Amino acid sequence: MDVETYRGALLQKRGELLGGTAARPLQWTMENNSGRQGDMADQATGNNEVHIHLKLKETDAKILQAIEEALHRIEQGTYGVCRDCGEPIAPARLNAIPWTRVCIVCKEKQKASPSP
Ligand SMILES: [Zn+2]
Repeated sequence: MDVETYRGALLQKRGELLGGTAARPLQWTMENNSGRQGDMADQATGNNEVHIHLKLKETDAKILQAIEEALHRIEQGTYGVCRDCGEPIAPARLNAIPWTRVCIVCKEKQKASPSP
């Protein structure tokens, strides 16, 4: 397995999350709110946009955390091993989600019985 490829993908994604999407939506929201004051329906829509924006940021933070952990596992030499069962994670899955912690079998198990 060529971990340098995955390290590159992880660093690129981290850069996108830290540099790109973090700043732009805020500016976009402010532009959208200007000239819209006084209309109740539009104000409600604006609130929804803010709510969605916060949820997106929360997801970004979780992905960032997972990326940091994955980079740490590369340093430790344990990258690509499932956290739950210890089996190697399929390369196709790592290519799709380089920061994943578990193999597809354990991921499906998590969905079947959500942990508290
Ligand atoms: Zn597993």
